[in-house]
Amino acid sequence: MSITPLMPVYPRCGVRPVRGEHCHLIDEDGTRYLDFASGIAVNLLGHSHAGLIGAIQKQAETLMHVSNLYGSPQGEELAQKLVDNTFADTVFFTNSGAEAVECAIKTVRAYHQHDGNDERFEIITFVNAFHGRTMATISASNQEKMHKGFNPLLPGFRYVEFDDLEAAKAAIGPQTAGFLVEPVQGEGGIRPASQEFMQGLRKLADEHDLLLALDEVQCGVARTGTLYAYEQYGIEPDVVASAKGIGGGFPIGACLATEKAARGMTFGTHGSTYGGNPLGMAAGMAVMEAVANDEFLAEVRAKGERLRSRLEQFIGNYPDLFESVRGMGLMLGMKMKVEPRPFMVHLRDHHELLTVAAGDNTLRLLPPLVIGDAEMDEFFEKLSAGAASFQPEHA
Ligand SMILES: *Cc1c(COP(=O)(O)O)cnc(C)c1O
Repeated sequence: MSITPLMPVYPRCGVRPVRGEHCHLIDEDGTRYLDFASGIAVNLLGHSHAGLIGAIQKQAETLMHVSNLYGSPQGEELAQKLVDNTFADTVFFTNSGAEAVECAIKTVRAYHQHDGNDERFEIITFVNAFHGRTMATISASNQEKMHKGFNPLLPGFRYVEFDDLEAAKAAIGPQTAGFLVEPVQGEGGIRPASQEFMQGLRKLADEHDLLLALDEVQCGVARTGTLYAYEQYGIEPDVVASAKGIGGGFPIGACLATEKAARGMTFGTHGSTYGGNPLGMAAGMAVMEAVANDEFLAEVRAKGERLRSRLEQFIGNYPDLFESVRGMGLMLGMKMKVEPRPFMVHLRDHHELLTVAAGDNTLRLLPPLVIGDAEMDEFFEKLSAGAASFQPEHA
C-alpha cells in the first residue's frame, strides 16, 4: 500500500506546527515562524487568545452539541449579534466556508423558486473566483483545475470577467437568479472590486429583481478594516457567506440574509447536524465580542495602512521582484514580477516567515489582526533579508 493515511490531496510542506503563540507558530523541531498566513485568514485573534480559549473551554465543559432539534440560546445570541452589526435580518450557521456559500446559492435559487418561478436558477459568477470545494461551489468557479475529474458539474452558473460591469449586465437573461461575487478576490490574487462594479451590480440586481450574494468568506469579519468588506462600497447586499475568521480557528461559517432574500428558506428547506452547535457559537461570540467594535476596526485600518505604506516603500528597492501592493486593511497582496511560490518557499524555509501564494502572481499577506509594532518590524526584517537573498530561477 502506498497511499498515506491522510488522503494525499494536499501538497503539504515540511513545516509541522505543534503550538501557537500569538503571531508565531512553533514547529515539531522547535523552529519559530512569524505567521503572516493565519491559517489562510482564519486566526484573526492570533494563536493563544485568552478570551477565545476561555470561551471554548467554558462551553466545552457545559454543553458541546445537541443538534437543531432543540432551541438554541447560543445560536440566537450570535445571530442577534450579527444582525445588529450588519445588513442582515437572519443567519444560517454552517461548519465551513463552502457550506456558507452553498447556503447562499440555495437562498438565491429559492428566492425565485419558492413560489414556482422555477426557470430562474442561473447565478452569474466571476472569472478566477474561489467559492470552495463542494460540487456546487466548484461549479460556481470557472477554474478548470478544480473541475478536472469531477464532472459533470452542477448546471446553472455563468462566468463573466471580474470587475467588468458591462459583461455582467450582458449576461443577464430570463433565467438569471442573482450574482455571486467576492468583493475582494482572495485565492484569485487579492483583487478588490472597484466601487463602480459593486455599486453597478447592486443597481442591476435591483432593476432585474436579482439577489446580490457576496462571498466574504475570506475578506469578511474585520479582515479589511470593516466588519464586512461591503461596507466600504457603500452598498448593502442581499446575502453574504461568511466563515474563515468568524470562529477565529474554530470551524464555523454563516450565511447572512435579509428577510426578503430569505423568503424561500422556510421550515425543512435546509439544515446541518453540527451547524450552529453551542461550542461553535461560543467561539463565534468570543470573536465577535473582540472584533465588532469601532476601536478594534479602527486599529485594523491603521495597521493595514502602516503595513501597506511600508510595503510600498519596500518594493521600490526590488523593482525586478515586485510590481505593486494591493488589497484592503490587513488583506494585502504583493503582485510579483516572478512566480510568487518559490519566494513564499524561500521566506518560509530560510527566514521563518509564513505567507500564502495566490493567483495572478500574488503573494498574500494575512497577518493575525492583533499584530503589534514588534511583529510588523520582525516582518520587515525577514522580508528584507528574504528579498536580498532570493535568487529567482532565470529561464
Ligand atoms: C476559503 C474560501 C471558501 C471556502 O471555505 P472552506 O471553509 O474551505 O470551505 C469560499 N470562498 C472564499 C472566498 C474563500 O476564501
